Amino acid sequence: MGPPGAGKGTQAKVLADRLGIPAVSTGDIFRANVKEETALGLEAKRYMDAGNYVPDEVTNAMVRDRLSEADAGEGFLLDGYPRTLPQVGTLDDILAEHGHQLDAVVALTADPEVLVDRMLRRAKVDGRSDDSEEVIRHRQEVYTAETKPLLRVYDQRGLLVEVDGVGEIEEVSERVLAALKTLEG
Ligand code: AMP
Repeated sequence: MGPPGAGKGTQAKVLADRLGIPAVSTGDIFRANVKEETALGLEAKRYMDAGNYVPDEVTNAMVRDRLSEADAGEGFLLDGYPRTLPQVGTLDDILAEHGHQLDAVVALTADPEVLVDRMLRRAKVDGRSDDSEEVIRHRQEVYTAETKPLLRVYDQRGLLVEVDGVGEIEEVSERVLAALKTLEG
């Protein structure tokens, strides 16, 4: 977890690779559907372009399907999900159905102004349609209002590890792995 631009996607890929499990990124799945112009993609695009969350029913159904695939049987790393309280409830249900439980929730922290700069630079490279300055600022607000409260929920469950997300990719990955070890112990 972490605000937009904190490096969730990058870290998810590195860590999933190190842990030998798939990274399941709801943002990536939505973007793939937008690109392929599927019904799901057409619906999601309206919300994504405005910097809003895709409705919970749509997102939850997609995650439920994805986590039922064979490669998720031995574990997975979620990137960008859950983002709302109803999604937390659905994830709990999905995990219970599969006889799984969360090992940890990693939150990447960073100064919002640093993040906006980072995202504007990324927009130039990737050309993402949700990366205009106005939309970027809106996404930060949506995160603060809808997703930040989830950190408290997972902290109360004893699952939260907060890691400074500012630094070189490799450096941040090492911090995350070290923080996960403290949770194991
Ligand atoms: P991301 O790449 O994780 O920043 O996600 C890009 C966009 O996809 C978000 O701004 C949302 O519009 C949508 N999205 C990704 N994950 C979720 C989620 N868990 N719930 C709702 N919308 C999501």
